[in-house]
Amino acid sequence: MASVNPLLSPSALPYALPDYAAIEPEHYLPAFDEAFRQHRAEVERIVSETAPPTFENTLVALERAGEMLDRVSRTFFTVSSADATAPIQAIEEELAPLLSAHGDAIRLDERLYARVSALHDVRDTLDLDAESLRLLTRTHRELTLAGAGLPPADKRRLVEINTRLSTLTTTFEKHLLADTNELAVHVSDERELEGLAAGERSAAARAAEQRGLDGWLITLPLFTGHPWLASLADRPLRERIMNASRARGGRGGDNDNGATVREIVRLRAERAALLGFPTHAAAVTADQTAGSPEAVAELLRRLAVPASRNAAAEKAERAQVSGIADLAAHDWAFATEQVRATQLDIDTAGLRPWFEAERVLRDGVFAAATALYGITFTERQDLVAYHPGARVFEVFEQDGAGLGLYILDLYTRDTKRGGAWMNSVVVPSELRESAPVVVNNLNVSDPGEGQPTLLTLDEVTTLFHEFGHALHGLFARTRYPHFAGTAVFRDFVEFPSQVNEMWMLAPGVVDNYARHIDTDEPLPTDVIGRLNASGAFDQGFATSEYLAAAWLDLAWHSLSVDEASREIDVAEFERRALEDIGLTEPAVPPRYSTTYFAHIFSGGYSAGYYSYIWSEVLDADTVEWFGENGGLDRAAGERFRRRLLGVGGSKDPLEAYRDFRGRDAAIEPLLRRRGLSG
Ligand SMILES: [Zn+2]
Repeated sequence: MASVNPLLSPSALPYALPDYAAIEPEHYLPAFDEAFRQHRAEVERIVSETAPPTFENTLVALERAGEMLDRVSRTFFTVSSADATAPIQAIEEELAPLLSAHGDAIRLDERLYARVSALHDVRDTLDLDAESLRLLTRTHRELTLAGAGLPPADKRRLVEINTRLSTLTTTFEKHLLADTNELAVHVSDERELEGLAAGERSAAARAAEQRGLDGWLITLPLFTGHPWLASLADRPLRERIMNASRARGGRGGDNDNGATVREIVRLRAERAALLGFPTHAAAVTADQTAGSPEAVAELLRRLAVPASRNAAAEKAERAQVSGIADLAAHDWAFATEQVRATQLDIDTAGLRPWFEAERVLRDGVFAAATALYGITFTERQDLVAYHPGARVFEVFEQDGAGLGLYILDLYTRDTKRGGAWMNSVVVPSELRESAPVVVNNLNVSDPGEGQPTLLTLDEVTTLFHEFGHALHGLFARTRYPHFAGTAVFRDFVEFPSQVNEMWMLAPGVVDNYARHIDTDEPLPTDVIGRLNASGAFDQGFATSEYLAAAWLDLAWHSLSVDEASREIDVAEFERRALEDIGLTEPAVPPRYSTTYFAHIFSGGYSAGYYSYIWSEVLDADTVEWFGENGGLDRAAGERFRRRLLGVGGSKDPLEAYRDFRGRDAAIEPLLRRRGLSG
């Protein structure tokens, strides 16, 4: 059928929301083709310009270029992460090498680099405003770090390395997926499942059935601990689950990731060396707020001492309360629930009737944003997103002016990837005269037609967290798309979302939304008090397992080319690294071990897993600031918005932080929060 491809022109819908109702999967590849062609032509015009380079004819032109590619990419990747049907998956696979080749061709274009460098050399004479100057220095730095300034032979090697790495990371992921499936734990005697809820049992029965097995099948999550370990009473089964989880990718055979990891680490070290850095970690952190691997190591070591001390105390307590004298990793979560029940008197599962999803959203998440920032939300039933489960809300400023669109896609489905996240479908920029369209995705189980959705405590936290990212995406006001929304350093980007979590139990918020589904009774104040007081509970464990993983990441990526070229035994390397930082308690294994640490070997977090705790320093410091400045308060919110969220990536993030806070962040609030001080 000769229909017009709707992706070839900008959407005419409000806020340029992509016209998903009109887009078919077969429209994507031709649109990408055309977008690549346009982007190449636009860049070609810039680099073949005969006039000497100016900020306008080079940097601004570069920012204007690729608008269609940006639009088509955002439209597509929003769908491929949240509704990846078979045709969408096939397109994504075909697209990956095309995108990386297109990006490399532009980033490594020496004519482009020569023009940007010429301007960068005289940047102080150009009389640029702050955001424009930052655009010039950032673009120059990003091109340099991509290898644009290297001699031709090195550049060729760099492209080779990048290509090989993209294959290796896919191999890592493939091995891990296959091993995870193979290691799923099969149970044939129902008595072993004691402690599991009915819904969990039926999920395990369905999983077995799908593989043509009798009984039950317990599939493994990405991280080391399985959530069901907290309730399974059968100790041998707990041990089987833990052993299976920790064996992934490291038990020899076809799915072993050892050789893949070694080659990834060696190639990353070689790439760093080509770019003039001693290690991959040095190359990565040089372009983050941390600045150097030493700064990261210092923070991790400083936290590891009190964290392991607290974990040891927690272990003794759990052993005593549970009566398991030789408490092991597979017992930890189970014993923790017993301690939680006796010490804190909190039954987290019993809280769900107070967390009806629609009330949490409107009277909690939205209401807190209205109180802080004056913004309001109206559902737009007339606008459709990429899936019927994704709802569209229009966001308004206090004066009634339209701000942007917020899309919420709450429920899990087979075509959605795991976890929760935020992404921008349209980024706001003055240059492109565009306003923000942002999406939050969660994976909440759909209770079925006519049933209310009752969230868990964790899901409520996640919704507040992801909405913090959404606010960052909605509020950022920048001229250049380069700095729009959440385009900030990786070790800074979690900060606004972590801060937004503070409102879920805040007075004026929790009493508003946490109402019993049947009786409308508010959540009792003593329960809220206990939840608030439980902040440091089990944090010796949680901090230690996180730090251990972050340290493994740093250790692997702190190897020089020579060191990484030696024959390394993965398990031995891991043992020594953990000994080095003093996180050796066998009952507290790393949150991820090397051979299944997808964040750093196939995801984008290599030498960056430290980011979560790094940004939590700012988060905890900010929570104290709100506490001292009226809490849920319009003026306090306005200051946070104007000085921090609103600047996006257009300013050095730590400078923005100083501007907001009046000083650098202090570490003490984080230590207090996690019970690590003293
Ligand atoms: Zn986040």
